[in-house]
Amino acid sequence: MRKFFSTTTARLAVSYLVIIMIMTIGFSMVIYRDSAHELGRQLPPPGAFGVRRIDDISRPGTPIHLFFQQRIDEGRHLLLLHLIILNAVTLVAGGVLSYYLARLTLRPVEDNMEAQAQFVSDASHELRTPLTVLQTTNEVALRRQKLSSAQAKDILRHNVEELTRLDNLTAELLKLARTDDQPDAFERVAVQDIVTDALNAVVASASRKKINVDDQVPKLSINGNKSNLTSALVALLDNAVKYSPDKSTIHVEAAEQGKYVLISVRDEGLGIDAEHLPHIFDRFYRADQSRNKQQHEGYGIGLSLAKKIAEQHHGEILAVSTPGKGSVFTLKIPLS
Ligand code: ADP
Repeated sequence: MRKFFSTTTARLAVSYLVIIMIMTIGFSMVIYRDSAHELGRQLPPPGAFGVRRIDDISRPGTPIHLFFQQRIDEGRHLLLLHLIILNAVTLVAGGVLSYYLARLTLRPVEDNMEAQAQFVSDASHELRTPLTVLQTTNEVALRRQKLSSAQAKDILRHNVEELTRLDNLTAELLKLARTDDQPDAFERVAVQDIVTDALNAVVASASRKKINVDDQVPKLSINGNKSNLTSALVALLDNAVKYSPDKSTIHVEAAEQGKYVLISVRDEGLGIDAEHLPHIFDRFYRADQSRNKQQHEGYGIGLSLAKKIAEQHHGEILAVSTPGKGSVFTLKIPLS
């Protein structure tokens, strides 16, 4: 990819330079032609002033005519020299400027392509893990001489679990890819509606862990996409449920602060170590891999999706956490 971009940058820079040079050479030619013509007109036609001495200036062969003719030729040469120097300087300065402009034009494209390549590689890696597990389990089962119906059911149950994981993962990846596209239409959205929809999405998993959700949301509205904002809040609530102990409480609050609405989700869960905190919004990042993989289902996509949605709304997500005590995630979105 690097090689592709360096050749593309060079090509684009050369194209810019060709345009600059065509323009400067063109202008120089026009300037030279017009100025040389003007210089030639300095000699008055014979008899223009009716005075013999002055007439000598325009009479070919007279010393004064030769003198003026020489001055005009010198003037033309000097003009030509200046234009050549100007074009040479333009060639060098234009070359540097063209390269800089080409880099500036291509950098966002390059960053985007690199991010996409990274995403595809990470996504493939995540997809391969459940597939490898499925393949190994089934191969081992096939190699067995005998398989009781209880064992077969066990394997099938395991297969279904892995397939569900795959299904969830692809659904999350699709959601993430869609959010990468242009933002959907914005409208005036009531914060209470977003919170209600998001809470409905996590109520089943929260009640399974007997987690109590306390929500205090005043009447506020923001300008945004309701479905995306709900997805962002679901990601925060889903994590709060996943990483909280049974019978704990999750607090959902909303408040106005300056030009923003802050929607916060506070849990009494595991918390996040300071070393992991700066990375939790990265795609596929999971703090403390061993702890997470064993105990909590997740792919490290939720927070990156929530962050993307917040940025789509010209807002951000803030995270504060105390290991062992809990975390507060705050969605900060401009007021409508
Ligand atoms: P995951 O699907 O693994 O939860 P996320 O992107 O939602 O992925 O979160 C990234 C990581 O941040 C998680 O793996 C977890 O370690 C950490 N995390 C997120 N929210 C919380 C929370 N409320 N409490 C503790 N850890 C959290």
